[in-house]
Amino acid sequence: MQKYQNFVNGKFAELVESYEIFNPANGDLLGLAPISTEDEVEQAVRAARDAQPAWARRSDKERAEITSSIAKVLEENSEYLAGLITREQGKPLSGPGSRFEMQACVGWTQVPASLELAPEVVYEDAERKDTLYRVPLGVVAAIAPWNWPLMIAIWQIIPAIRMGNTVVLKPSEYTPIATLEMVRLINQVLPPGVLNTVTGDGRIGSKLTSHPDIDKIMFTGSEATGRRIIEASARNLAPITLELGGNDAAIILPGTNAGAIAEGLFWGAFLNMGQTCACIKRLYVHDDDYEAVMSSLGDIASQMTIGDGTDESVLIGPLQNQMQYDKVRELIADARANQCDVREFGQTPAKGYFLPVTLVGNINDGQRLVDEEQFGPALPIVRYRDVDEAVVSANRLPAALGASVWANDPAIAAETAGRLEAGTIWINQHGAIHPMVPFGGNKASGYGCEFGLEGLKAVTQARVISVKK
Ligand code: NAD
Repeated sequence: MQKYQNFVNGKFAELVESYEIFNPANGDLLGLAPISTEDEVEQAVRAARDAQPAWARRSDKERAEITSSIAKVLEENSEYLAGLITREQGKPLSGPGSRFEMQACVGWTQVPASLELAPEVVYEDAERKDTLYRVPLGVVAAIAPWNWPLMIAIWQIIPAIRMGNTVVLKPSEYTPIATLEMVRLINQVLPPGVLNTVTGDGRIGSKLTSHPDIDKIMFTGSEATGRRIIEASARNLAPITLELGGNDAAIILPGTNAGAIAEGLFWGAFLNMGQTCACIKRLYVHDDDYEAVMSSLGDIASQMTIGDGTDESVLIGPLQNQMQYDKVRELIADARANQCDVREFGQTPAKGYFLPVTLVGNINDGQRLVDEEQFGPALPIVRYRDVDEAVVSANRLPAALGASVWANDPAIAAETAGRLEAGTIWINQHGAIHPMVPFGGNKASGYGCEFGLEGLKAVTQARVISVKK
């Protein structure tokens, strides 16, 4: 059986304790993943600390070139890593699945490689000249979730490395294998100690984020864990970039052509079986358009093949784990018990954490499937009578990661978008992120931004040199 190991200081860490990882599509055993000991967390942080000064002294150009080499490594190993993602996380190889995740990993590495935070003269007069430099923070702890395990790890580690920090990455305990393989491969082009891993559950995560030698925390995950990490950071005063959960609303303005937007809406909601932070989790539809929207979405849903994502014809895979599977089923059962209009599409295999694509109509604000981040292939569709009411609904929950407006008329769409509260508001699309465009949540969806120059700034600190003339 394949045994996977952590990578610390440029070499494999000894496998002390391990646990089994299973394929969510069929229950097959994929291999053994390590569980780090507290001592190993110490070793990983020490390796990162020791490697950091020399890494920071490399020229900006040299770090940019090495970041480009990482992108090449990812590109060359895309098919291998995509296969691992599919077998471990569940998303299909095809469509917006694991190959798409690997393309994103490459793109989100190439862009930071091409960007630069040049020194900036922020003030100058006859007597003084002040220049702002962006210097690395030091050792970054990166804590990743299980839904887009490699892409989100890349979002966290690449800007940090590019700017002269070193990293200790902890993948989710549900999806460690593909990440460990990616880190092993990336290490081919990095000096030892620049990128290290530890593995295990929240106890190891907490040991890492509260470590006194951590200078920055990049966290993507749930709101509850985010709160614990803020508390832990009181020990090391590490600034945090917090990317938390979402419960994104999409509003379809009255009279919008349902057929024209259905495909965008469908993938906006069902990308990665709905296990995406910035997916449509609540859809608000005008009373008069309800049936047209339901049947357009239903038409697309009924064309989907659900199954093991290693089959190239499959576009909808399993949920990633039992906890998630049980939670989504419970929320659908709650909607059924409340006489909602539950419409299911697709044949699900007997084995594995599969659910049909599920549209849930005749549902209202305040019901569990609307108010809780369901993170699954079940889309609640709420009817509204006037747009003001839909805007109030969209803004009423604490989560505020993304939102979208769908309309025929761009001017009216823009006016409505301006009234929505979220980190990103899309028009006629949802979840369309880009490595140059800052991304982050408002309100309970976290703080700080990733991507683009904002993302690079987030892993640096400002240092001013002020010269008397
Ligand atoms: P989670 O919070 O349970 O776990 C995330 C990571 O935190 C895991 O690696 C876990 O081991 C670790 N962890 C748990 N307790 C910890 C602690 N006390 N200290 C340090 N680390 C700890 O989240 P999840 O279930 O893996 O991921 C799903 C959640 O992530 C959803 O809410 C989703 O919306 C959110 N998410 C947000 C974004 C975004 O960009 N905003 C992206 C993807 C996922």
